[in-house]
Amino acid sequence: MTRLYNFSAGPAILPQEVLAQAAHDLPDYQGMGASLLEMSHRGPVVVNLVEETTALLRSLLRVPDTHEVLFLQGGGRLQFSMVPMNLLGAAAEACYIINGAWSRAAAIEAAKLCHINVFSPPPGKGLPLPESILVPNDAAYLYYCQNETIHGIEFNYVPPAPECVPLVSDVSSNFLTRPIDFKKHALVFAAAQKNLAPAGMAVVIVRKDLLGLAGEDTPAMMNYSVHAKAHSEYNTPPVFCIWMANLVLKWTERQGGVPEMQKRAKERSDIVYHAIDASGGFYVNNVVPAERSRTNVVFAVKDPVLTPLFVREAQKEGLVNLKGHRLVGGLRASLYNAMPLEGAKTLANFMADFLERHG
Ligand code: PMP
Repeated sequence: MTRLYNFSAGPAILPQEVLAQAAHDLPDYQGMGASLLEMSHRGPVVVNLVEETTALLRSLLRVPDTHEVLFLQGGGRLQFSMVPMNLLGAAAEACYIINGAWSRAAAIEAAKLCHINVFSPPPGKGLPLPESILVPNDAAYLYYCQNETIHGIEFNYVPPAPECVPLVSDVSSNFLTRPIDFKKHALVFAAAQKNLAPAGMAVVIVRKDLLGLAGEDTPAMMNYSVHAKAHSEYNTPPVFCIWMANLVLKWTERQGGVPEMQKRAKERSDIVYHAIDASGGFYVNNVVPAERSRTNVVFAVKDPVLTPLFVREAQKEGLVNLKGHRLVGGLRASLYNAMPLEGAKTLANFMADFLERHG
């Protein structure tokens, strides 16, 4: 099999080693004569798997004892509702930084449950100025999306909030590519299908003292504290996703952990941004350089007529899923942890070659 370089934003590329191991172990898990997918979630094998995966994640991200790690179904978007349902408590208002489609989508869900106070970037910028984020002491929380997958904008600072206001972040598309400061973040969540596992699951890392704020009328499946008490096994958990996360986390550890992933994310994205910046305007990226995402490089061919041709020719070279998101058009190269450095180099070479032929 010729393996493609898959630049999809998610479901995204997974490490080849992990896929091979999963394929090998699928029918007969660790010589037990049955597939893991056939085993009871109450039995020791699955219970141990969930425990081990939680411990791996804790170790890789240095999650302190103050925080709980949860594996929940419903992907990223369910968290847009679960966050306000669990953190509003008696507060009347939550604060949202809106600087792209995913923070906007989260704010729209929260606005169904409370008043929202919005902070936005000034014209021409992708991030608000830190000093413009004035969060009142009685806000339930301040929410931001650390990496806007569609617009290719990544926060390069931690938004300021008063100490009494929990800071919440959607870290779906840059999860495990940089450390997370859990002294500052009360809750982070990540949809699995970018740097962790197949789609359908989210990891939520939440400060324990915030569990229990949900009202009595909160449905059990939407209540973090129900899931925390049941160690992510309140109902039948997404065993396949957790298993894949387990393998991906072990792979991440073998590669050198989050510091190595951080280094590679910079190297890969530098290569592609360089190809854009060195093209004399043939390729365009409109993000302020200091705010450029290391995992989602959003760009365009200056002459949009060439976009479908770029996608087609790239595909012929084994570089797939480069078409931009329908909201912004153009092109997007998602460069997650499983993308080999060679993938970024091959893309940059293709870009130079395409420019040569069509520039
Ligand atoms: N947040 C971000 C930053 C995302 O990129 C995505 C999906 N691309 C989501 C949330 C939504 O995730 P899901 O499709 O799993 O609901």
